[in-house]
Amino acid sequence: NNTTKILNIEFYNRSFKSFCELIEKRTEERENTFVVTANPEIAVNAQNDRKFMNIVKSADFVVPDGIGIVKGAKMLDLPMKERISGYDIFLEMLKWGNQNNKSAYFVGSKPEVIIKLRNKVAEQYPNLTILGMKDGYFKNDIKLVKSIQKSKPDMVFMALGSPKQEEFINKYRKVSNSLWIGLGGSFDVLSG
Ligand code: UDP
Repeated sequence: NNTTKILNIEFYNRSFKSFCELIEKRTEERENTFVVTANPEIAVNAQNDRKFMNIVKSADFVVPDGIGIVKGAKMLDLPMKERISGYDIFLEMLKWGNQNNKSAYFVGSKPEVIIKLRNKVAEQYPNLTILGMKDGYFKNDIKLVKSIQKSKPDMVFMALGSPKQEEFINKYRKVSNSLWIGLGGSFDVLSG
């Protein structure tokens, strides 16, 4: 079994490396994939919010993003291989995308962060096609969703913070058979 149930959430419990291989294969095959990178805050929030819990449960993978989840598992004597952070997945998928000429759409963070992110990604990952970059303070989803639908990115990186990013992915993931992943503050980190 590849998952461990904690707080009613099935967490992926194998290594970071095996997780990346798994989502790379799915992305290669254009399988629609939703990844929740769950830190303890997300796991706790889901306990008190039925709608959010259902969204988390609808994900293809929930990874333990935070040492708190791994330590919690250990205390309960449950298997949990290691921490798998959204930021580490982000870096790995950028690298993999660059090596394999994939494409990506980036949504989230402040407009000034997006400008720096665009330069950084273009410079460090020149073979990754940037199909779109949109800051996370848009008023209307529809234009953005249509753009994602039309451009069919291999990967959609969503950094709107939680639960906004998971709500957005849950609502719109069907428009493109992409890897959809919520990344919290990762754009701020990479661009900084
Ligand atoms: N953010 C956004 N739109 C919003 C609210 C937040 O794009 O309406 C961005 C924010 O600029 C930051 C990211 O979401 O880059 C993550 O925010 P935060 O650190 O608060 O979330 P967490 O990482 O704790 O999920």
